[in-house]
Amino acid sequence: MALSRVVGRLIGVRRHVVDPGGGGAPRVPPRVRAVVVGGGIAGMSAAVVLAERGVQVTVLEAAPHLGGRLGAWPEELPHGVQRNEHGFHAFFRQYWNWRNILRRADPALRFLKPVPGYPILSAEWPTEEFGRLPPAPPANLLALLLRSPSVRLADLRAMDRDAALPLLTYDPERTYAEFDARTADELLTSLRLPDRARAMLFEVFSHSFFNHEAEMSAAEMIAQFHFYLLGNPEGLAFDCPDRDYATAIWEPLTRHVERHGARVRTGTAAARLDRTPDGWRVTTAGGDIHEAGHVVLAVDPPALATLVAASPGLHAAAPGLVARMPAFGRPGPPYAVARYWMDGDVRPDRAVFSGVSRQPTLDSVTLYHRLEDEPRRWAGRTGGSVVELHAYACEPDVPAEELAERMRVELTALWPEAAALRVRALRARVEAQAPAFTPGSHAWRPGVRTGAAGLYLAGDGIRTEFPSALMERSAATGIVAANHILRAEGAAAEPVSSVRPRGLLAGRR
Ligand SMILES: Cc1cc2nc3c(=O)[nH]c(=O)nc-3n(C[C@H](O)[C@H](O)[C@H](O)COP(=O)(O)OP(=O)(O)OC[C@H]3O[C@@H](n4cnc5c(N)ncnc54)[C@H](O)[C@@H]3O)c2cc1C
Repeated sequence: MALSRVVGRLIGVRRHVVDPGGGGAPRVPPRVRAVVVGGGIAGMSAAVVLAERGVQVTVLEAAPHLGGRLGAWPEELPHGVQRNEHGFHAFFRQYWNWRNILRRADPALRFLKPVPGYPILSAEWPTEEFGRLPPAPPANLLALLLRSPSVRLADLRAMDRDAALPLLTYDPERTYAEFDARTADELLTSLRLPDRARAMLFEVFSHSFFNHEAEMSAAEMIAQFHFYLLGNPEGLAFDCPDRDYATAIWEPLTRHVERHGARVRTGTAAARLDRTPDGWRVTTAGGDIHEAGHVVLAVDPPALATLVAASPGLHAAAPGLVARMPAFGRPGPPYAVARYWMDGDVRPDRAVFSGVSRQPTLDSVTLYHRLEDEPRRWAGRTGGSVVELHAYACEPDVPAEELAERMRVELTALWPEAAALRVRALRARVEAQAPAFTPGSHAWRPGVRTGAAGLYLAGDGIRTEFPSALMERSAATGIVAANHILRAEGAAAEPVSSVRPRGLLAGRR
């Protein structure tokens, strides 16, 4: 075990049990039914846990394929059909709940391969490496401050250390009470960091949450620092599937839940929800009706607001949920994903995944032909490359192709050899589905329980009482929703875990 992990364990930086699970019968009584609306990570995590305990689960997914923002589908390209994906994802090692679900697809998680390095590129400053820090705090923080070319001793002296204290004192109640009204931008400014340290160490991090610093709650940024860096024994290193997400994740998970009796209906949007004497009725856009004692709504924020608005019965059944929708349903800024199939390659020493600082549009670059099997084979045959560019929080109302071109041009400022590559195919998309974490949002963020019996929420915008984010929050809320149903039916629950619940200097309650 790395020395930093040993030291980390001594100060409580380890996996913490949020819910030990167990505690009931191995299976629910016969004929317990649940409908899960949304077949992304949150919905499928709930479906896995419920189906394994004998709940008769139906998953309704509006898209033609499962996965939501982690989806993958076949794409007709000029050079043949290839799988495309919603976008590159980093599977961090403290995603214990998500990894437990993924073990149903592959018990040894062999499809997840370590991605060496996590460089941050800049046109102004030398590359900063995040991936090779010791895993656990406080060693990772000390190494970052001592090794980083972006921070010098004089900078640390000039920094407002009192202003930095909240980063180390995360508390699930106090942090929100004190910082949720402020912006991440104000917090960063108050640290008095040199511009380079702010750009290279902090801004890239906050962009990864699909929100601009000026529109993101300072409390949420503190919570994410805690979850990814300061309360996490696994570090910033991450793994990625070595094949597309449909092959690696969604097809095996579908087989798994179907083996346990679940029905997965893709291309089937839920259009309306009504209370019945025994539970809930979900009506699909095609007019089909699914009745069940329990429903998990595991859709993205705008889709949840649409579904709630189309379900007048919820005004009486779940007034708290209805009241939260106007704020919750407004997503964060648009994000753009552009996958380029090129006729040549970038330099061999370029990293598989790089974050990008201070380009107007471009936030990250992924070299898919060095990551997943199919692009690797295509590049091997043709001498080409498959390069995916992301903008996590971009300007609104700009067409996807234009954003893709802006990102390609910005890449050539960082990697000049990219300018010589000719584009053989491009698939560009701009979407706005990520939850907003605006100042003040903690007060209206809905939790897994809705206040209505048998109706639960799951997803990466749903509040948790323990640190979590992004994919891990989706999986965790899906499991928590399933656990409420299992306990209500007298069956054993699934364990849930998270990182150290509070900051290193948060003191004891
Ligand atoms: C480009 C990009 C990169 C990312 N990178 C990372 C990363 O590196 N690490 C990380 O942890 N996270 C990352 N994320 C975030 C991650 O993708 C999300 O947190 C996660 O996938 C959300 O899952 P979900 O199940 O909560 O929601 P979704 O994936 O949005 O799933 C909701 C599902 O509900 C379906 N739906 C909507 N309306 C209806 C309806 N009426 N009826 C039926 N179905 C409906 C949708 O089609 C969708 O499939 C990234 C996201 C993007 C977009």
